[in-house]
Amino acid sequence: MTKVYDRVALIGLGLIASSMYWAIKRAGLAGEVTGFARSAETRDTARRIGLCDRVCDTVQDAVRDADLVVLCVPVGAMGSVARDIAPVLKSGATISDVGSVKRSVIDAVAPHLPACVHFIPAHPLAGTEHSGPESGFATLFDNRWCLLVPMPETDADAVQRLRDFWVGIGSNVDEMDPDHHDLVLAVTSHTPHLIAYTMVGVADDLGRVTDSEVIKYSAAGFRDFTRIAASDPTMWRDVFLTNKDATLEILGRFTEELFALQRAIRTGDGEMLHDYFTRTRSIRRGIIEAGQDTDAPDFGRAQLDNKE
Ligand code: NAP
Repeated sequence: MTKVYDRVALIGLGLIASSMYWAIKRAGLAGEVTGFARSAETRDTARRIGLCDRVCDTVQDAVRDADLVVLCVPVGAMGSVARDIAPVLKSGATISDVGSVKRSVIDAVAPHLPACVHFIPAHPLAGTEHSGPESGFATLFDNRWCLLVPMPETDADAVQRLRDFWVGIGSNVDEMDPDHHDLVLAVTSHTPHLIAYTMVGVADDLGRVTDSEVIKYSAAGFRDFTRIAASDPTMWRDVFLTNKDATLEILGRFTEELFALQRAIRTGDGEMLHDYFTRTRSIRRGIIEAGQDTDAPDFGRAQLDNKE
């Protein structure tokens, strides 16, 4: 048991905050954890399942005296929450977040915060397609990356403390520049989600998604798309609206590659297709060697709860 902060406040009590709470408790990382969610319904659920030591009815009560405040709301809501909490933040506190996009969160949050707090944006690369206070679990972040995005002038001790906190939660921690973060995530997470949404939409247009034979015989491929495409609509709407440039850049490249493959299929260029698939297979091997997935022949189905 190693306490890193006396008081932690989790704002927004969905999948990520609830998983953080159970992991904080597992490792004894905080003296007290307060929580706030927008709706009375979510606050009631949190109280019923024992999520947070104290669930507050106002966001100001939740953050007052907190040494660490973590914003766990959709990316588009970060700015208004920051504005609401700014007047009551404790001097010397660290303010962080878990948003899937970093540049827009910094632009939305930083202008509201007083100079006496440390703002250190973060993004844990772990999640599931489930949402809400009851979807969290303590092991969500185990052995997954958490990226910290401190500004160059950020206090080094505050960064180290947040790093210790995420390591205590179970993550591997790295630091990244916000624009680079947004580009990397556009490649590894945001565009793949858009492709999954599209593929399920295409199948739906063909009127075959609910046809039991499609699901029955789809094995991992299409079923995995439907799982990803079941992710929270608010969260993903905000991701695309706020990581617009990087997503459009990667989508442009994706479309070019798709046209090249389309042409190879049309012209019967088997060599091109074989070379391409050989290259992509070696990328998969690299991911396994880096310990980011297993080579279980089930498309990682056993690790359903570790996608982002
Ligand atoms: P979630 O389960 O849907 O929970 C979101 C929480 O935010 C709920 O408590 C909700 O309150 C609250 N909220 C929503 N809109 C709000 C608003 N306008 N003002 C104040 N509170 C609001 O979401 P999540 O999956 O935990 O995601 C939270 C954050 O983590 C997002 O920024 C997301 O980008 C990031 N993230 C998600 C994943 C993932 O895979 N899910 C992974 C990494 C990072 P009510 O319940 O009362 O509506």
